[in-house]
Amino acid sequence: MRKFYKRKKTNKIKWIKIVLFFLVFYISFALIKNKTVITDSDELNINNEVAVETRKPVFEYGIQLDSFKIIKEVVLSGENISGIWANYNMFFLKDDILTKSLGVFDFVKNLKATNNYTVLLKGDTARYFIYELDKINYVVVDVCDRDNIDVYKGVKQVITKPMFSQAVITSSLSEACSEKNISQKLSQEISEIYAWTIDFFRIQEGDIFKVYYENNYVDSCGKEKYIGVGKILAAEFVHKNQSFYAFYFEQNGNYGEYFDENGMTLRKAFLKAPLNYYRISSRYSKNRKHPVTGQWKGHFGTDYAAPKGTPIMTTANGTIEIASFTKYNGYYVKVKHNSTYSTQYLHMSKIKSNIKKGVFVKQGDIIGYVGSTGLATGPHVCYRFWKNGVQVDPYKQKLPPGDPIEEKNKVKFLQYKDSLLLKLTQTQM
Ligand SMILES: [Zn+2]
Repeated sequence: MRKFYKRKKTNKIKWIKIVLFFLVFYISFALIKNKTVITDSDELNINNEVAVETRKPVFEYGIQLDSFKIIKEVVLSGENISGIWANYNMFFLKDDILTKSLGVFDFVKNLKATNNYTVLLKGDTARYFIYELDKINYVVVDVCDRDNIDVYKGVKQVITKPMFSQAVITSSLSEACSEKNISQKLSQEISEIYAWTIDFFRIQEGDIFKVYYENNYVDSCGKEKYIGVGKILAAEFVHKNQSFYAFYFEQNGNYGEYFDENGMTLRKAFLKAPLNYYRISSRYSKNRKHPVTGQWKGHFGTDYAAPKGTPIMTTANGTIEIASFTKYNGYYVKVKHNSTYSTQYLHMSKIKSNIKKGVFVKQGDIIGYVGSTGLATGPHVCYRFWKNGVQVDPYKQKLPPGDPIEEKNKVKFLQYKDSLLLKLTQTQM
């Protein structure tokens, strides 16, 4: 019995030992297994990151940057292309590059201080030299194959993101903008949009403006770089508790403009003057003594005195009828606006290069520059206003408003306007 009991006891201990053994084995196994799992997942993560990086290469200027050493620099004042290329061991390639650059870009004549450039190197050897013409356009010099150098122009893709800002006027529009860190370019554009609607010298404390506009970015080393304000899509100016709206809409292929909530244009058909800053030196008159000839004769234009080179704008949309030179007019431009009105701009120092007969111009577009060519005593623009083939005094005309939304575009405009209005109201403080 005792023996049996003892045996039974030994059996029991044996079983406990077996159970313990398996327990320990199981726990250890589980631990090892767990650990393995953790290690695996860690490794997996690392692999993933590496994999993601290799799967998402960084591009700029259409070139994959990953394998290059990247140097970003700015052209210093007084620096020339030979000096820059010498810094990157490219000087001996100069003649070849300049030959290949012919017709693309003149690095010797047109290199500008403060412009950016990028050099992509493998080790110490330059493979690409990229010169930025502005924030969007650039020239690539590809010297990867030194026997086959390539020079070409490129354009960065502009990424546009809509943005809403609003500010309360305390003293002026431009101050309200600086207080809220809103670009001055935006403030300037708002005052242009509302030039005929709101007198910005009379705006008062408590007036509010809201603006829904585009911010522009370009890709730079895989990151978005802000390059400035784009178009204003919609604006609301609350003046003395009354809302003045402006919605940008493109009626036809030529250009877009701003309309109010009912589709009426915010501009008059004509600008008050063809210059932004000027002094009227002689008004339209049926009889005046000519300052050069001394003869008494009618002066059928308005003379605006301004420094030589001041930009001259077309006062209304239209088509260039004449862009030419005569002995008395000097360099001059005539714009036909419609079957009733034409305007003429005389004595320019030069006509803007793209202004030729048949070209469509938009109100405010620059057509030339103030000068004193032809019969003129000093730099000024003689502005002549034609109505039905006769020169009249623009200051005595009741000028027509600009065209409203065309009937065929009305439904489309009203729908678009509603979507913009929502952007202005949804984002209110
Ligand atoms: Zn004149």
